[in-house]
Amino acid sequence: MDFEDTPEEAAYRAKVRAWIEANKDALPDRDHGSRAESVAAAKKWQARKYEAGYVGITWPKAVGGQGGSAMQQIIFNQEEAKYNAPTGLYAIGLGMCIPTVFSHALSPEIAQRYVPVAMKGEEVWCQLFSEPAAGSDLAGIRTRAERDGDDWVINGQKVWTSGAHLSDFGIVVTRTDPNVPKHKGLTMFIVDMKAPGVEVRPIKQMSGGSEFNEVFFTDVRIKDTHRLGEVGEGWKVSLTTLMHERLAVGGKPASAPGVKEMIELAKAIDFAEGSALEQSHVRISALSSGRTPGPESSISKIVIANNMQDMGAFAADLCESAGLMMGDDAPDLPHLTRFQTSYIGSAGLRIAGGTDEILRNIIAERVLGLPGEIRPDKDIPFSEATKLGL
Ligand SMILES: Cc1cc2nc3c(=O)[nH]c(=O)nc-3n(C[C@H](O)[C@H](O)[C@H](O)COP(=O)(O)OP(=O)(O)OC[C@H]3O[C@@H](n4cnc5c(N)ncnc54)[C@H](O)[C@@H]3O)c2cc1C
Repeated sequence: MDFEDTPEEAAYRAKVRAWIEANKDALPDRDHGSRAESVAAAKKWQARKYEAGYVGITWPKAVGGQGGSAMQQIIFNQEEAKYNAPTGLYAIGLGMCIPTVFSHALSPEIAQRYVPVAMKGEEVWCQLFSEPAAGSDLAGIRTRAERDGDDWVINGQKVWTSGAHLSDFGIVVTRTDPNVPKHKGLTMFIVDMKAPGVEVRPIKQMSGGSEFNEVFFTDVRIKDTHRLGEVGEGWKVSLTTLMHERLAVGGKPASAPGVKEMIELAKAIDFAEGSALEQSHVRISALSSGRTPGPESSISKIVIANNMQDMGAFAADLCESAGLMMGDDAPDLPHLTRFQTSYIGSAGLRIAGGTDEILRNIIAERVLGLPGEIRPDKDIPFSEATKLGL
């Protein structure tokens, strides 16, 4: 297989490189500013990309995208990743929510209201799917939406909502009919995160950060015009989001260090016998960690998340006791903080967007054609299934 750029791809890559070089003044100087500084830096970079036509590269022109190829998007991501650009703020909104909005909005006016503003980076979005009793089994959600005239009234709780504390809008999956089987009674909406009755409570993580939240809805009113797809079709609509989610989280995050950084770190560590890079066990591990996934590319999310975790653990071990020191305490060890951050984050990546086990189930059933799991609640009304404890 040929991994070189075609002449067209090489020309596109050269154009992207030239543009990033000419615009790198809009990139932040350092990784760790305050939250407000990070948000401002992300907004500045996003606005610059939008002006130049590098947002929504693969999206249809009718919705403001570029109508480009997946390869062009990959090339842009690869070149942007070299600069450690601040893209995380928009990963969920532009990676998952906005494609769902332009695919399922009830009217062109709704798409026009939300899509361009999100592309410019002026509004931030979050994805409100998971609940305390519904993660892998997403169709088990309990947040209710009840019709009241032209409005729907939402009550319930979501959890693990990344970026809800920074978001202006979200897409929320609700149960509108508990008296049909669980996949059939769901409906999705656009929700204003600043609306009365929406309460966002940050969750403190072991890394010290607070990137996800619990979100409580108490009598939150949403106009029917803000429904995405038909009533009862929320499962189908959420598959659009999940398909984009696995693509979006399936790639290595731009901030995650790779083999090049591992080699630089190993060079900087001195053992009595010479630098760590000269030791045979280090050379073997670095190579095996960086191997290119071949036929298993359909499971790239499993491979990449596990790979990040292995490399992060290996980097920390390699630095011995210094592997536990964070940030400026170990200034002579290049990339150590990035490996540590990648190690801590990789555990979450193995869960978000489908756990390793769920993805293996999907591969077993849909790729290998093995017998499916037994699903006793599949064909009975959700209200009955919950009474039976299924
Ligand atoms: C970093 C991060 C960001 C996230 N961001 C968001 C977000 O923005 N919005 C949002 O809605 N959610 C978000 N989530 C939540 C995420 O979607 C869920 O955590 C995930 O779907 C798993 O659900 P759960 O946590 O309820 O675990 P559970 O579904 O309860 O799973 C617990 C364990 O059981 C295993 N398991 C469950 N069912 C099966 C089965 N049938 N066969 C074999 N094993 C099984 C799982 O693999 C797992 O090991 C995020 C999670 C993480 C970690």
